[in-house]
Amino acid sequence: MPDLRETLERLDGAPYGRYRSLTGREWALAREVSAVMRHAQADPFAPPSRWEVRCTRTPFAALGLGSPVRRRALAGFLARSAAAPRSPFRIDAGGQEVLQRSSFEVSADGSALLRLGYHLPGPRRRVDGYDAAADLTGHLPDLVLDRVLGVDLDEARAFADAVEDADHLRSLLPGLGLVAFVADGSVLPRASGVDDRPLPGAVPFTSPPSLRVEVDLPHRGRVAGAGVPAGVTVVVGGGFHGKSTLLRALEAGVHDHVPGDGRELVVTAPGAAAIRAEDGRAVTRVDVGAFVTGLPGGLDPRDFTTADASGSTSQAAATVEALEAGARLLLVDEDTAATNLMVRDARMQELVAKASEPLNPFVDLVRSLADDHGVSTVLVVGSSGDYFDVADRVLLLDSYRCTDVTDRAREVAARPTGRVAEAGTFPAVRARVPDPGGVDATAKGKRRVSAVGTDTLRFGAHDVDVRAVRQFTDAGQVAGAGLALDHAVAAGHLDGRRTLPQVLDLLDADLAGPVGDWTGGAATDVAVPRRHEVAAALNRLRALRVRELRAP
Ligand code: ADP
Ligand code: MG
Repeated sequence: MPDLRETLERLDGAPYGRYRSLTGREWALAREVSAVMRHAQADPFAPPSRWEVRCTRTPFAALGLGSPVRRRALAGFLARSAAAPRSPFRIDAGGQEVLQRSSFEVSADGSALLRLGYHLPGPRRRVDGYDAAADLTGHLPDLVLDRVLGVDLDEARAFADAVEDADHLRSLLPGLGLVAFVADGSVLPRASGVDDRPLPGAVPFTSPPSLRVEVDLPHRGRVAGAGVPAGVTVVVGGGFHGKSTLLRALEAGVHDHVPGDGRELVVTAPGAAAIRAEDGRAVTRVDVGAFVTGLPGGLDPRDFTTADASGSTSQAAATVEALEAGARLLLVDEDTAATNLMVRDARMQELVAKASEPLNPFVDLVRSLADDHGVSTVLVVGSSGDYFDVADRVLLLDSYRCTDVTDRAREVAARPTGRVAEAGTFPAVRARVPDPGGVDATAKGKRRVSAVGTDTLRFGAHDVDVRAVRQFTDAGQVAGAGLALDHAVAAGHLDGRRTLPQVLDLLDADLAGPVGDWTGGAATDVAVPRRHEVAAALNRLRALRVRELRAP
């Protein structure tokens, strides 16, 4: 192998662009540790150059790497360890969730692959061979030896065990007839709206006796908590008493969390989708007929397209899109829902005849979703007791304490309000066949997929507004959704004949494999998204075209 230090020192003082000559060659950094630069940066102010560091021999196989979960967990642990403060190397460690990321991958045999960014030094736009050599052949091998290969194996094992417990707990849910589990002692609130770490001094969660379930986990052993059964669960309580915080924790429960997060054992069925109103978004050929019986101007609600949805139609579309993508649990918070889609009370029914109200409120559909389609709902509605009629259980949050008030709610509901149900059953959702032509990640002849925080997906010539897709965890996952869509087209999954759910099934299999296989060597940090977020990004792509709606 050529020597990186020598090569860099020889380049010292050359025009900055000569760094590019390092690309694609393998350099030995230490015994069984090598590095390859995959992308050079064009100039000193461009995004950092991208490097892959491979460790062929590691002590990690002893931690038990037979399952993908443990490999993901160990990779997450190592990425966090390697992302040292004040280091010249940019390593994407992610946040509180433990997701498979491109920054670190561990194989079953224990070999490890680290992907990082490095700003190649370039004073006066010239190669600084000596500084670059000090970083790449000095600091980088030190970092790998100390903070990757030299990690405390007991700590690494404890991290992997905790993640494996959460994953196991999630897999237990269906067998227990549950859609979510919140362990006693969990800390649900976050430090602030912009800080996802636990709130210090928070009131820990305790389960109401009626929901208490005990489970056995492979490492932690027996754990007690609240099991949320399948069906319709309504969360009530006064303002600022912790309702949204509970729902947010359930939204986050589709992912595993780092030890110390407070939500390590708050888990939700993998097919959980947060639903909200999002006026102004585009909707492409969604059958919102369950919610909307007529539209002005003769628009067909059973094949609804708009460049500018209203609050209610956007929420109706989001619900149907979630079902199309395979959601089994809908999470709805009145804070971000369209009121006129949620309820229509007895007095309004009396004043405004059904004939002049095209919306069927969710309260009249949520039962059919559970009974006819097996789709559960957890919804926060502190404002409407009409939901007592359709709820399987009602939970009250009072000063952050959760109690089961189902019996009292039943008594209240037994006294009729005069309200009449306005819809019968929720029809089966027709799946859309997307046209690959609209899903184009190229702009000016180049592939362009990146994320601006969790607000925007840059996809080819399109900026996709994903601010309302609450379950995106971080920018890496937004970029991941864009790259997954691009891959779905490139791999021929999205071919203009398959329905979106069929495309997502094929994509799921690919997303479970090595990240490099479906990101096409993109020079950006990526976290693996769920199919639901991939679909959510596609649904918000204004260039999306749909060929047909196919009956199930
Ligand atoms: P709601 O939706 O009922 O109006 P929120 O869930 O928004 O209430 O919570 C209100 C505030 O209380 C938030 O600032 C949140 O961080 C805080 N909070 C929620 N749960 C707890 C808890 N268990 N301990 C301490 N503070 C909490
Ligand atoms: Mg709230």
